[in-house]
Amino acid sequence: MAEAKAVSKIAKGENVSRLSAFDPNYKSDKPQSYYDDIKRKFAEERDLRLNYRPEGTAQYTSDLDGDLAHFGDDPYGGNFQPREAINDTVEVLFTGGGFSALLSIARLREYGVKSIRIVERGADVGGTWYWNRYPGAACDVPSYDYLPLLEELDYVPSRRYARAPEIYEHCQRIAKHYNIYDLAVFQTTVTSTVWNEEEKMWHVKTDRGDHMRARFVICANGPMAKPKLSKIRGIPSFKGKSFHSSRWDYDYTGENLEKLKGKRVAIIGTGATAVQVIPEVAKAAKELYVFQRTPSCIDIRNDWATDPNWARKLKPGWQAARRQRAIDSSDPHAPKTAVKADIPPEEKVRRQENANIDYVMWLHSRIDEIIEDKATAESLKPWYMFMCKRPTFHDEFLPTFNQSNVHLVDTHGKGVSEITEKGPVVDGKLYEVDLIVYATGFEVQKTGIYNQIIGRNGLELNDKYKDGIRTLLGIHSHGYPNLFIMAGYQASFQFNITDVLSVQGDHIAACIKYTREHGYSTIDITPEIEEWWVQEVIDYRGKTDRNKECTPGYYNFEGEFNRRQDGTYNGGFKRYIDKAKEVQGDMEKDFLFEK
Ligand code: NDP
Repeated sequence: MAEAKAVSKIAKGENVSRLSAFDPNYKSDKPQSYYDDIKRKFAEERDLRLNYRPEGTAQYTSDLDGDLAHFGDDPYGGNFQPREAINDTVEVLFTGGGFSALLSIARLREYGVKSIRIVERGADVGGTWYWNRYPGAACDVPSYDYLPLLEELDYVPSRRYARAPEIYEHCQRIAKHYNIYDLAVFQTTVTSTVWNEEEKMWHVKTDRGDHMRARFVICANGPMAKPKLSKIRGIPSFKGKSFHSSRWDYDYTGENLEKLKGKRVAIIGTGATAVQVIPEVAKAAKELYVFQRTPSCIDIRNDWATDPNWARKLKPGWQAARRQRAIDSSDPHAPKTAVKADIPPEEKVRRQENANIDYVMWLHSRIDEIIEDKATAESLKPWYMFMCKRPTFHDEFLPTFNQSNVHLVDTHGKGVSEITEKGPVVDGKLYEVDLIVYATGFEVQKTGIYNQIIGRNGLELNDKYKDGIRTLLGIHSHGYPNLFIMAGYQASFQFNITDVLSVQGDHIAACIKYTREHGYSTIDITPEIEEWWVQEVIDYRGKTDRNKECTPGYYNFEGEFNRRQDGTYNGGFKRYIDKAKEVQGDMEKDFLFEK
């Protein structure tokens, strides 16, 4: 049966990117009314949530100051290291020291760029892996693909899905190997990046009083760098301990959570982070209350320790070959995914939606199989199309809810709306706890995070984007010469973000190389190529109104109206790479240079 085949493919957990490209040739033997009924239920669940929080993204705050300041503090960096303010000039400045910077620097050096600086908010490199040290943290992408430069550093990860400490260590390994530490200024946040037309330089200011000038600036601050909190009434009034998941306080919990023995813990949120944290806290705490607003999709993880025999037999070029396979399979025109010519577009969408629903219903059946309590099982079932929210993969999360010390507090889309000095309140019931963990996510980068970016003519990048994001490849935006954005919108969607970052790093390095070699002082893009890319993004964002039809979450800006261009480029990674190469091939055509 086609359905069974589709599910068994998925159950192998083979390749997440394939999951989003459900087979348009899919045929089901169920009547269409079955699917229409489920779609109606999806719509009801979405409307319920939108009605509870019509304020969209404004339901959250990432201004973590005053009473909320401790939610943003760095628990890992130790004391602030005093230093003199920096007032100098570099050629290339990165805001952020995560994988974006680590991957780009090697290439820049190859091209002879020596004057490079990283300005990083944390006290070490690693970016997301510096901050996200919560128990259970791991990457959902196979480590043999996600961890870059494995062959160069002669390293094979210990597991199929590497845990956070191993990934963080790998970031440090890259930084040591390529002497990147010498370039970094830590515990420093860039607050403004302003173009000076006379000098043809960016002026970069920081929260440490620095005033640096840079010929080129690379926004390498990651797509989700700033923790956010739901604006729940009374958060500061809580008398127990509370922190955000990305600022885990191991002094309070103990390194192995041993100090949670005897403690009552609340976790707010059930997104990708909470799914990883919950099983760990459940093992340690006396009582765990999980406050759920919308359930996640939980698929099989299928993790294993790396087989040393397999690792030994890897041939030179193995990681690049894996990457090439991922690129080839991302092509929507590849024979496997190509739609038969005689299928009209609406029929294609209908078939994909039906396949998607069958998959979600299979996730429901998995919940029924695992969860003993019927009401809890019903509460854990997601009612939205797969990929409306970030999918998750875990083998321990669901069984955790069979433990007698674990309590799912299903808020039926409403969420926790009040915290008192003793704990969260839902439907008038107080849950007294000692610790509240806010696993409520991160602000999503549209432009710079923490950072105001002001280009030619004094225009802030957010203001430019107010009628829709405008870039070329998600990297360049007209009017912002010598500025490059990594991991932003309008770049290719790839579940493995390091694949995208390495392509972007190579592209940016090629642009800088060309500019230098030709004796130019600035590189910008033409308005025409920018408009062309915006249309390209729109064309590939599909004919469905998936964003509007989805349950709210950060993928669809919490259901706010957004232009179709405000998202990732969905034309496939291969096409994205080809486009990057195409524009690099004739730089004088699509770029504007000044001597
Ligand atoms: P998310 O934004 O995905 O989740 C936030 C959660 O908080 C949601 O479940 C949300 O509910 C819930 N929430 C917000 N306000 C309230 C409230 N008032 N009451 C109850 N619940 C509330 O953040 P995460 O940190 O989980 O994940 C962010 C991203 O980080 C992931 O999507 C992923 O991209 C990345 N990540 C990656 C991992 C990896 O393997 N590489 C691992 C972990 C995270 P609702 O759904 O209703 O909005």
